[in-house]
Amino acid sequence: MEITKREEKTEGEETASVKDLRSLSREELRRLITELSEKGYRGDQMYTWMHGHYREDIDEMGNIPKVLKKKLSDNNYGILPVKKELVRVSETDGTRKYLFRLYDGNMIESVFMKYEHGNSVCVSSQVGCRMGCRFCASTIEGLVRNLTAGEMLGQIYGIIRDTGEKISNTVIMGSGEPLDNYDNAIRFIRLLTDEDGLNISQRNVTLSTCGIVPMIKRLKEEDLKITLAVSLHAPNDDIRKEIMPIANKYPMNSIMEACRDYYDANKRRLTFEYSLIRDVNDSEEDALELASLLKGMNAHVNLIPVNPVEERDYRQSEHSRIHAFQNKLEKNHINVTIRRDLGRDIDGACGQLRRRYLRNSE
Ligand code: SAH
Repeated sequence: MEITKREEKTEGEETASVKDLRSLSREELRRLITELSEKGYRGDQMYTWMHGHYREDIDEMGNIPKVLKKKLSDNNYGILPVKKELVRVSETDGTRKYLFRLYDGNMIESVFMKYEHGNSVCVSSQVGCRMGCRFCASTIEGLVRNLTAGEMLGQIYGIIRDTGEKISNTVIMGSGEPLDNYDNAIRFIRLLTDEDGLNISQRNVTLSTCGIVPMIKRLKEEDLKITLAVSLHAPNDDIRKEIMPIANKYPMNSIMEACRDYYDANKRRLTFEYSLIRDVNDSEEDALELASLLKGMNAHVNLIPVNPVEERDYRQSEHSRIHAFQNKLEKNHINVTIRRDLGRDIDGACGQLRRRYLRNSE
């Protein structure tokens, strides 16, 4: 596929001079508009344009007076756009991988997946990532910037506009570490599950983290009924430290304790992700150790055959080994599934489509 060159911004933290209207709750929008001496219900109208009709261009909002539009732009308010740059469609399972362009030229990936229980979107929470997991393509060049809540929503809205499909599930499992962009991630979840917006059930939202313990504790306090997924990828700290630098900061026992507390608070079954990497974490002893770690927890293990990333030399485990690993867990009464390998033919692994795009533009 021919991909053409565009610039991508790579410096520092968030630099938007425009304040993102799409990140505001309905009440905040109403308040802002009254502060600009306009009628509060204009806020409801704008909210409906953005979150009901998925519009990101204020000029398309026909019933909003020009004077209000001008006041907003004079005060540096706008909608940070999320524009479709390219889509790749899997020929085997209909998975669609999107590359979106942001206001500053940065690119992010999102994935649309079809499941029997409904359509799901996997959203990115940051441009790049600073967690440094060795097997992950998103982190190779570090963190570029956080996404706003509106930019996270914009990925889903862009996919709805493009496909005309209904979305019932969202997983925050794209590029980035959502708990490293905590406030925006929470704001995103509240907007996503707002009954005047997409109204996705909190139960159908999964947030995946590499295990930032203090933030898991904070998340517990939010009283959200979302599913917490923790990227474990190892049965003990020694192996985990080899592949996930965050393990040096938060040992496994502190993660497990935070997970148990999370479960006690909101009674949502926990998910543990485990990417199987050949000769690193895929032995039967590893499975046994994992089983004893998770014993008695209401948890589900999602085994992911590691997606090889060009820049890294990790390889996928053989099929027989993956199944042996699964069997060992099952024999020890651990709930386990092997993740359906969706979209493999379209650079399905985190950050790979973006990397390939940027590399081809050099
Ligand atoms: N920062 C969050 C979300 C990131 S990506 C987290 O760490 O959970 C979602 C999942 O994909 C994580 O479990 C991540 O570890 C995993 N992942 C990333 N790159 C992968 C690869 N090349 N192969 C398999 N799984 C990968």
